[in-house]
Amino acid sequence: MDLLNTLVDKGLRRELPTREEALAVLATSDDDVLDVVAAAGKVRRHWFGRRVKLNYLVNLKSGLCPEDCSYCSQRLGSSTGILKYSWLKPDEASKAAAAGLAGGAKRVCLVASGRGPTDRDVDRVAGTIKAIKEQNEGVEVCACLGLLSDGQAERLREAGADAYNHNLNMSEGTYGDITTTHTYADRVDTVNKAHAAGLSACSGLIAGMGETDEDLVDVVFSLRELDPDSVPVNFLIPVEGTPLAKEWNLTPQRCLRILAMVRFVCPDVEVRIAGGREVHLRTMQPLALHLANSIFLGDYLTTEGQAGQADLEMIADAGFVVEGADEVTLPQHRAEVQGGGCGSHGAEGAGCGSHGAEGAGCGAHAGEGAGCGSVCGSHEGAAEAVTVPANEPRTDLVAVRRRGAGTDLAPNA
Ligand code: SF4
Repeated sequence: MDLLNTLVDKGLRRELPTREEALAVLATSDDDVLDVVAAAGKVRRHWFGRRVKLNYLVNLKSGLCPEDCSYCSQRLGSSTGILKYSWLKPDEASKAAAAGLAGGAKRVCLVASGRGPTDRDVDRVAGTIKAIKEQNEGVEVCACLGLLSDGQAERLREAGADAYNHNLNMSEGTYGDITTTHTYADRVDTVNKAHAAGLSACSGLIAGMGETDEDLVDVVFSLRELDPDSVPVNFLIPVEGTPLAKEWNLTPQRCLRILAMVRFVCPDVEVRIAGGREVHLRTMQPLALHLANSIFLGDYLTTEGQAGQADLEMIADAGFVVEGADEVTLPQHRAEVQGGGCGSHGAEGAGCGSHGAEGAGCGAHAGEGAGCGSVCGSHEGAAEAVTVPANEPRTDLVAVRRRGAGTDLAPNA
């Protein structure tokens, strides 16, 4: 297919596809999905080899948010029975982080619900970052605390944060349909603040909220312009108790096309599969590793992911390898922008990636709804026969998180 050959050539040269080319990827048929994956996989392997970076979410503060993001189970008025708790203490957060790191993660993403942190909240998170860094040598820490005020990104950087996540989530044109309590411009401003403070920027999207192909291309092109080091791609988990609970409109093939489009538009950026991986890709998850070079290990913010051990087995079975703490995530030309790059823990003060911030994907603010909450519970090994026809709502795969941070039960890692 000429389209795919063109896109591979552009991806290897870090050249931006046209909007028409990006739209054409989304418009390919299910018959062509393996060709699309194979083509985007060449770009992925060129810049990231067969490495898969593992990230681990720690939900520092859950629920009780005054904002109204329609995809989010932590929103004002949500009737989803999620865990609700205020700030974890630094040692509690550090303990949760240690479980993820022991499971193979190299980055910890500290997420808190809410519109944005107060200065006191930033102090609190600074203490948590210090505790995690002291107890886990070489760990990368990304914060995801919502909209930042002046000076807060700098304080997080001084405390040792490597990255900051704040997702655009959707196109500018559709933003007001999903959230009314803050604006698209607010989000762009926070990503720019993270960049300016020298944090590695992480900013991504949520697919599956009823958007058009044009909307998806809009948000991905906007992300490319913001130039984050990592782009988390969330697939909406239509959680009961949220306004988008009926938006079951993704198929595994659609998810693969979206990831391929993101890879072609952001060829040398860490593309992370975030919330919704297990719910929407299901048994096609291993194919998605040919497109994304990063995933979350274990559970999400408010929902459960497949068992951490299953994540590791999937990576190995698909012929990929978990990225080590001593490996640099980003290609050299991006990592060098900040003089170190993710993963090169030797480089003091390096930060992860150019401009800094990577991470998120996850979480609140960032895109939670999808992000966070994904998943599934049933993965954990239950052998019950599932009789739901393909592409029907898979509410059976959505389980509210009941373990790890904020509970007395061990985390999934
Ligand atoms: S995404 Fe963040 S800001 Fe929006 S409702 Fe959820 S926790 Fe609140």
